[in-house]
Amino acid sequence: MPELPDLEIYVEALAARIGGQVLRKASVRNPFVLRSVDPPLAAIEGRTVVGVRRQAKRIAIDFPDSLHLVMHLMIAGRLRWLEHGRAPPARITLATFAFDNGTLAMTEAGTKRRASLHVVRGDEALAALGAGGVEVGELDAKAFAARLRAENHTLKRALTDPRILSGIGNAYSDEILHRAKLSPLAQTAKLDDAAMLRLYAATRDVLREWTERLRTQTGAAFPEKVTAFRAEMAVHGKFRQPCPVCGTPVQRIVYAENECNYCPRCQTNGVVLADRALSRLLHKSFPREICAIGRAKGCTGAHAICRRQRVARLRLPLIARRHSRASGAFARRPRMVRLLLSRRVIASPPRRMHLAHRASPRPLDCDGHRIAPS
Ligand SMILES: [Zn+2]
Repeated sequence: MPELPDLEIYVEALAARIGGQVLRKASVRNPFVLRSVDPPLAAIEGRTVVGVRRQAKRIAIDFPDSLHLVMHLMIAGRLRWLEHGRAPPARITLATFAFDNGTLAMTEAGTKRRASLHVVRGDEALAALGAGGVEVGELDAKAFAARLRAENHTLKRALTDPRILSGIGNAYSDEILHRAKLSPLAQTAKLDDAAMLRLYAATRDVLREWTERLRTQTGAAFPEKVTAFRAEMAVHGKFRQPCPVCGTPVQRIVYAENECNYCPRCQTNGVVLADRALSRLLHKSFPREICAIGRAKGCTGAHAICRRQRVARLRLPLIARRHSRASGAFARRPRMVRLLLSRRVIASPPRRMHLAHRASPRPLDCDGHRIAPS
């Protein structure tokens, strides 16, 4: 999902192109994307853009008479700027906005239609679209602490909750917590003042640095490569890769659609946090700590996974193989099948799970290679 730094760059690129321009034609290609009825989309046609701004995770384009076109890109939504009569990409385009100097296209990859458009009148209606979170840039350290401590949540949840703070999602919250050297599962109510101050500074610094970095990378062009996974990130999307600070392999906690990445040495005193689905399956084999050898010597990615962790990695394919011989056992454990599928330990669900035409499970090892049948 585009977060604060990406959205800031979008806003700057849009302001440079459509600021002061007249919107000639607004067309919606997928009726689901427009979530408001009154005022109609036609109300903004023929009007001049008087401003572009970020409103939490939305982008608002302002027109005279307090009319606003509000775009929420959600996870897979992106913006494209098309010049010289270039056509928008056929299947993924949700809406287009034609100006004299080019066309703005809103696209969404995949099949889930989550991105949205609203046309609203008045600043109150615009504010009502938001979840009530506050911009970190508008908070001082004291107000930030008060806001986070108002309810007790894990730090990961508090940073990404749009009702508490605006514009921070899964990617930058991982980076902020790594910078602050705090566990994603630490509780806001139990955080001492020094740690809270560190979190405040890390939040501001990480968002500012990333906005500047993306601004430099984009230059005068329109931002094309908007992604949550970037090479310069310390831990987000870096599972098993060495932490840039201490070299320990980055760990993860997997949720339904997301995962949280952290360094077990920098952030959790060497403790590998329970990944509920995985630890329930592996019971005592689930590693609780990073390896003792690595801690003394300073791990590199090559040797760092301790024996217990290796046992855990090896056990999953073994479980998969054992069950694949008697797929009846698999059929009784759909939750485990889902887990093995999500970890790519098996490539497809077993036959007896009411999926008659699927291939039988083919166990994969941790590197994704198929295990030869024994
Ligand atoms: Zn580290």
